Amino acid sequence: MEKIKMTTPLVEMDGDEMTRILWKMIKDELLLPFIDLNTEYYDLGLEKRNATNDQITVDAAEAAKKYGVAVKCATITPNAARMEEYDLKEMWKSPNGTIRAILDGTVFRVPIIVKGIEPYVKTWKKPITVARHAYGDVYKATEIKVPGPGKCELVYTGTDGTEIRETVHEFKEAGIAQGMHNLESSVESFARSCFSYAVSQKQDLWFATKDTISKKYDHYFKDTFQEIYEKEYKEEFERLGIEYFYTLIDDAVARVVKSEGGYIWACKNYDGDVMSDLIATAFGSLAMMTSVLVSPHGYFEYEAAHGTVQRHYYKHLKGEETSTNSMATIFAWSGALRKRGELDKNEALINFADKLEEASLKTIEAGKMTKDLALITTLENPAVLSSESFIKEIRNTLEELLHAV
Ligand code: NAP
Ligand code: MG
Repeated sequence: MEKIKMTTPLVEMDGDEMTRILWKMIKDELLLPFIDLNTEYYDLGLEKRNATNDQITVDAAEAAKKYGVAVKCATITPNAARMEEYDLKEMWKSPNGTIRAILDGTVFRVPIIVKGIEPYVKTWKKPITVARHAYGDVYKATEIKVPGPGKCELVYTGTDGTEIRETVHEFKEAGIAQGMHNLESSVESFARSCFSYAVSQKQDLWFATKDTISKKYDHYFKDTFQEIYEKEYKEEFERLGIEYFYTLIDDAVARVVKSEGGYIWACKNYDGDVMSDLIATAFGSLAMMTSVLVSPHGYFEYEAAHGTVQRHYYKHLKGEETSTNSMATIFAWSGALRKRGELDKNEALINFADKLEEASLKTIEAGKMTKDLALITTLENPAVLSSESFIKEIRNTLEELLHAV
């Protein structure tokens, strides 16, 4: 079979530990034999980040801006223990944080659905994607522990001297208070990222806040979404036959549980933090969750939602066999290849991405899986495979699928 050609490079960001091992296996077994893989490679492994004073992360993000599509392996976010382990010059920031700051986007978490790994919610048939706003609110709040009776105020002093003053509370006793904020630019890019992603996935978009109670703050989010929708996306949504709708967060929660899935749920920062963990767990496993950063300018960066699976890596270093699930990393690749294919009108590449996903799902459905899934599957007598043999099984299935056409 002739290898599939790529016209534009995909930005490839390599990473750390067990996921770095899987990365190479995925490329060797599932990609290089079938595609003339055209990537611009950036090594975001911690050693390279340290050697380049983290410039490599910035360069990788700039490349993602240049080419539009990136795929990223999980990376270590250094802490005190890692400083020692890797003899680091500095406690480098989270690569995801750095990349997000440069691309300015929203993170969408997408579960992989497969027969045999059943969601806890019986009605869920299709994935529910959570889009979490990742700036401000309670994550950047200022808090006061109020010691006793007194007045607590919220004061804004404009650079031109304008003053706005609101009483938070006249305290008759001790208590607590909190001030939080968000920014016009951040809320607007959150909205645009959500609408762009809904268009790219051809899925409905739900958005929910508590605007009945928070009449200025949450209302601002609601209004911003509505205005941007009307002005910039309504026509496209109608053309694609997809829907945007806003509802109260309480109503959204109830509807989500009764739904069959297949839509994107945009959440404010705190709601998204909590709800994405709830949805991920309810769909079965963290190892089956992918994540895509979508910038309002239309750049896409795909990755697994899990980390570098450190504990498995140490086993691997000791020469022991591992059974690490590569699904989320494979789907990061297929997502990125499909997007590259769509942008380049490369049908062969899109088809390959579809087949790669199909082969991965079929392998699990045939009862061949890694240990994490074997523990929760409803299939009887699953075969528990090593990291490597799972990928090899997917390759066999993939070859069958590709030759069947
Ligand atoms: P983790 O890598 O997600 O792993 C936590 C545990 O979840 C593992 O020990 C394993 O459980 C299970 N698990 C996760 N992914 C799995 C997979 N693919 N297959 C099978 N089991 C899987 O989180 P962590 O150990 O807390 O973090 C390790 C490193 O990852 C940290 O340095 C952190 O900074 C980094 N991290 C990076 C990203 C990113 O780049 N996006 C995200 C999160 C964390 P068992 O051990 O019980 O088998
Ligand atoms: Mg959380």
